Amino acid sequence: MQPHPGGEPFAPHTAHCRNHPGRQGIGVCVRCRAVICLECTTRIAGINHCTQCLEAAGDRVRVARQAGVPQRAVEILSLVPLAVLAAAVAVAAFYALAFGMAMWQAASPGGLTSGS
Ligand SMILES: [Zn+2]
Ligand SMILES: [Zn+2]
Repeated sequence: MQPHPGGEPFAPHTAHCRNHPGRQGIGVCVRCRAVICLECTTRIAGINHCTQCLEAAGDRVRVARQAGVPQRAVEILSLVPLAVLAAAVAVAAFYALAFGMAMWQAASPGGLTSGS
């Protein structure tokens, strides 16, 4: 039994959502085969996935990307920690350099800081 890539033919009026008994189902989850309504359906590459299976998958970034979240938003989310880390390293390097310069000047007799 090979499932159709786009979901098998489905008659909406024949079943209700697994999570919302009062709502008509609009599709079948490709993984658990549960009938799901529009709210519970996430279409990934034209294939229906229920919320439970998406949560079970656990890969939220990949799910968000495949669900249609702009690639740039996902990249920004993944790059923010790197940007913060880079800024922290830059600040630390700046202070280390300034401290080194101050120590070098203080250790130099008749250096730049003393004018006679
Ligand atoms: Zn499912
Ligand atoms: Zn539902």
